[in-house]
Amino acid sequence: MAPGLWEPKTPGAKMLLTIEEDLKNLLALWRVEKKVFELKQTRRDLPQRIQSLRDAIGKERSAADKLHADITRAETQIRESQDAVVTESASLEESGKRLGAITTNREYDAVHLEIAAHKKNIDTAQARVLHLQQVMENLRKEAEEAEAAYEKIRSEIEPELETLTAELGGIEERITAEANKGDAPRALIGKKTLSVYDRTVQRRSTPHVIALVNHAHRACDICSRNQTSQRVIEVAKKKQLLLCEGCGSLLVWREDDVPALHPQEA
Ligand SMILES: [Zn+2]
Repeated sequence: MAPGLWEPKTPGAKMLLTIEEDLKNLLALWRVEKKVFELKQTRRDLPQRIQSLRDAIGKERSAADKLHADITRAETQIRESQDAVVTESASLEESGKRLGAITTNREYDAVHLEIAAHKKNIDTAQARVLHLQQVMENLRKEAEEAEAAYEKIRSEIEPELETLTAELGGIEERITAEANKGDAPRALIGKKTLSVYDRTVQRRSTPHVIALVNHAHRACDICSRNQTSQRVIEVAKKKQLLLCEGCGSLLVWREDDVPALHPQEA
């Protein structure tokens, strides 16, 4: 019977039919509210998930950037050492010229000491250039690998990141649109049933307050407590709102492919 078309003739009949209609509409409302709840959890979790994906990309980027900075530093050090070779070579040449103009042994010894020092400095700087060039070669290889690792993780993660970012961007609209779907069934549920439902939802801060039961599935979905056969029979009648004795969840008949047993067999 479509809601709203039926006018009760007696209060008793109204109550019996209302509960059945109530429960039907309650399930419709419940499904909407579970979806809204899920969306709100997503809204809460998404920023952190997005951040951790960004961090994963950022970590690879930083590793590659650090290597590029190391390369730049090594390049500078190579230039400095090369400059030292040039400077020391010029000084060596100067010292060589002075060798020809010396008059005393003392001068001779001093210039030879200078020459030895310049030669040593040149050797040191040249050795440093060689060493740094080797370091550079290794750094370039490492940087190449780091760039490849960055590209790999970026191409793996970016599509997901874009999807999640778009999802987060549109989630308010989705929550509103989904929540609006609850208005129609909510308006059709009797005050009493609705207040039991709403109070339980409020108390538990979750719409997971309805347990669907039948003779094949007697365990409460929330607390797992098995409902008595008698209780399941009462739930099947859909004439009153029954609660799980274990946790107070609302019991609603589970419509599924398992055929309900006759009460005498239960
Ligand atoms: Zn329960």
